[in-house]
Amino acid sequence: MSEHSLPQSAPYVVIGAGMHGLSTAWHLAMALEKSGKGKGSDVILIDKTGPGAGATGVACGCVRNLYMTSPLHTILRHSVDVWQSDPGNFGFQQVGYVSVGESNQEADYLNMHKSQNDAGYTSDVYVGKEAKSFLTSIWPDYNTDRADVVLHEKPSGYAGTHLAVRGLHEKCVQWGVQCFFGPAVEGYDMANGRITAVKTSAGDIKADCVLICAGAWVTQHWDWLGKPKTLNMRYPDGGVVEGADMWTFWRLLEGEVYLPEGEAYRTADDKDPPVLHVELMNTPVVAENGREFPDLHFYTYLRYAAERVGGPGIQGGTIPIKIGPEAQLDPYGHDNDLYQADEWFADYYCGTLAYLMDRFKGCRANFKDRRNGGIGAFTPDNVPIFDWVADNAYMIADSNHGYKMMGVGKLVAELLTTSQPVEALAPFALTRYDQGRTFGDRNSNCPWV
Ligand SMILES: Cc1cc2nc3c(=O)[nH]c(=O)nc-3n(C[C@H](O)[C@H](O)[C@H](O)COP(=O)(O)OP(=O)(O)OC[C@H]3O[C@@H](n4cnc5c(N)ncnc54)[C@H](O)[C@@H]3O)c2cc1C
Repeated sequence: MSEHSLPQSAPYVVIGAGMHGLSTAWHLAMALEKSGKGKGSDVILIDKTGPGAGATGVACGCVRNLYMTSPLHTILRHSVDVWQSDPGNFGFQQVGYVSVGESNQEADYLNMHKSQNDAGYTSDVYVGKEAKSFLTSIWPDYNTDRADVVLHEKPSGYAGTHLAVRGLHEKCVQWGVQCFFGPAVEGYDMANGRITAVKTSAGDIKADCVLICAGAWVTQHWDWLGKPKTLNMRYPDGGVVEGADMWTFWRLLEGEVYLPEGEAYRTADDKDPPVLHVELMNTPVVAENGREFPDLHFYTYLRYAAERVGGPGIQGGTIPIKIGPEAQLDPYGHDNDLYQADEWFADYYCGTLAYLMDRFKGCRANFKDRRNGGIGAFTPDNVPIFDWVADNAYMIADSNHGYKMMGVGKLVAELLTTSQPVEALAPFALTRYDQGRTFGDRNSNCPWV
């Protein structure tokens, strides 16, 4: 749709056509049509580049519920409901998700297992010998030496990013959302705590309600709203961290590995394997060429990714690297020279794979040399913020967890069209920092567990 037809006013303006903007626009349009409270065309979706131009277009696509922050378990249950509503069009493969830890994470895994099942998200947990035999029943060549505890999430899986973006965009179009790709939001006019106009490169739009789903660019929108760059975080145990950065950028390290000719990445019974996630907090990584990584932790994940690799192969990554409160946002993702995986990543990642399974021994030679990765804006406690940021503006800031969180848009649409509080969203309010409900109780070297 051309810039020229951008309307001067609209009931709803959704900013950003990533996972959250697309899902919110689609669910909002659907809820308005079905309830008779409005029309799908009441929803305007704006993206300065196009669908999937941010993290959503470059994500690894893993859909999991491996969180030590329990309220996220319900969010993920809603999300998998949405993924499962049209798995074909979203490219969702419900293969499950297997996480492996050492004994120091046993209690955490037992807690997650209980909380996930309480939230209606089915998982099994295995400890000790059972953990080892569960792993070899799926991957007979798995090295179980340090595998003390295993969590198997059955509803989880992965999705190919391109299909998911296309599928979501199609849903928006089918429900009448007016999509404008090209115009950039450049600021907000504010009066009495409300956004009175969304200022764009193609003119101003007066909006009754604004949904800010700007991914890593959230920092710009935050500044335009006149919000502070730091805040105090109060924890349930009374602890306080003063002056924490509101946003911290991290860059993600990911890569792809071709399978050798004739080698398959299949389960013992010849199925697409669950996504595998391994954090060994007491085990060093040593590459097959002997290279050691004394400053890095053992943390790796992988999934079958032929659709991404361009042939039989796997995709995965490791713990992201902290940048700080400022980062160059554009160009984004694979186009930005600053944020590509480091030189050591291929040795490290292939080293973890070779350690885990015999089939990956020698896989460094098959590492695909291509651009990868991207950056994300994390919140002060690395947990999403879903909340009102002005009287008529709602923000979805997922702290870079959110490719898997397709259900948030559904919950936000429910909030907007029923005017009832949505319980699942409540723990993620901004007020948590001030009111002593900051999250942070997690035992992992990674900011997104
Ligand atoms: C390399 C990588 C791998 C990842 N892997 C996974 C994974 O396996 N599983 C998982 O769950 N998550 C993963 N993530 C995180 C996940 O991709 C993101 O959390 C999620 O996609 C963010 O969605 P979003 O809609 O908030 O933002 P984005 O997808 O970044 O979309 C924001 C959109 O807003 C637009 N925009 C911003 N500002 C403006 C403006 N001023 N005017 C107009 N448009 C604007 C942008 O153009 C962009 O298209 C990964 C992230 C990266 C970078």
